[in-house]
Amino acid sequence: MSKTIIANWKMNLSIKESLILANKIAKIKTDNEIIVCPDFLSLNLINQKLKRKDIYLGAQDCAAYSYGSYTGEVASQSIIESGAKYVIIGHSERRKYQKEDNEIINNKIKQALKVGLKVILCVGENLTEKKNKKTKSILKTQLKGALKDVLKKELTNISIAYEPIWAIGSGKTPEAEKVNETSIYIKDLIYNDFKKKVKVFYGGSIKASNSSEFLKYKQIDGLLIGGASLNYQEFSKIFKKNYVR
Ligand code: PEP
Repeated sequence: MSKTIIANWKMNLSIKESLILANKIAKIKTDNEIIVCPDFLSLNLINQKLKRKDIYLGAQDCAAYSYGSYTGEVASQSIIESGAKYVIIGHSERRKYQKEDNEIINNKIKQALKVGLKVILCVGENLTEKKNKKTKSILKTQLKGALKDVLKKELTNISIAYEPIWAIGSGKTPEAEKVNETSIYIKDLIYNDFKKKVKVFYGGSIKASNSSEFLKYKQIDGLLIGGASLNYQEFSKIFKKNYVR
């Protein structure tokens, strides 16, 4: 079954470096969907220069408003015109550093959907919440808040990235079987509210050596990868593993 592999480069590469890496990734032979998320400034250039068009581009964020006097913000319309098909919304780093709450995230999702971007909504619990067995209630609150007043038909353009905050960049991962269960929990929650199936990806300390552990599960539809997506050797190995061909 085809999976989705998302590369989130965060703010780690220059425009030139982003273009070089995107061109290498575009040569990976796979039936799986690859989504590359560089910084805003690299999106347009990569879209113009990329030789292969069957990898997709995604932005790492978008504004919560359409247009207006919002210095420093980037509108969804500009993102889609730059060639991106996807946008990551609600990443834990934005929740932490930009203090994005569920209401802001909800507005961003609506702006993105309005212009036809596909949304990758990130949710996940922190370590204290995990220890206090609050994962499910945290996920529920995040999902309900982020998807407030979103229409059933719009769910087609939304997928969820389950990213436990304690697993991001830490080298620690939850057990893959647990992630599969959490994916089912997220899918059921959304199905109950919207009567729509969504894809759920996992993100947090994925590298080539542990990728197939997660991808072998049917209810884990793909991976969102930070650190390991910056290294071509490491990233490309993921597609040589058993479960992603
Ligand atoms: C992320 O930041 O979304 C992420 C999954 O990072 P890493 O793979 O480096 O843990």
